[in-house]
Amino acid sequence: MTCSLCIPTSNEILFQDDFCRVVLLNDPDYPAYCRVELIGHIKEMTDLTPLNRMRMMNVVFAVESAIREVIAPDKINLASLGNKTPHVHWHVIPRFADDKHFPNSHWGLATRGEVVKDEAMKHEVSGVETTKYEMNSAGLQANNHALSRASVLMLKERISANANFALS
Ligand SMILES: [Zn+2]
Repeated sequence: MTCSLCIPTSNEILFQDDFCRVVLLNDPDYPAYCRVELIGHIKEMTDLTPLNRMRMMNVVFAVESAIREVIAPDKINLASLGNKTPHVHWHVIPRFADDKHFPNSHWGLATRGEVVKDEAMKHEVSGVETTKYEMNSAGLQANNHALSRASVLMLKERISANANFALS
């Protein structure tokens, strides 16, 4: 069976063993956004053995710690949804107070970073969206907290170190 997570990824793999892999998603708004993906086709955490649940979360926490060490975000968001793939996987999303969606979910409504092109839109949108447009017209720009190559290499090194420590 082929699925979106079984086909080879063009994204950089930060860590991999026979159980899971950590993929850097190259999200332009969230440069250090990683996904921890189970290699096997198991959909729910509670279908893993207790030991493998711990193993999965140890890697998730290894990634969280590495991201905190390397880029010091204001907050880490962890999410496991996976409605479209048969692999348990965890999203590890570093958040900054000036990122595109803060304080909303990164899948939620953007709060900054888009140029207002039509002033008339202000009068047609809902209260929440009005805030968005007013913030944009005030001149706030997207801050993508760009990730340097050195930081990517440091993430790799720290994830491996943290994951190995967690499993020892
Ligand atoms: Zn698959």
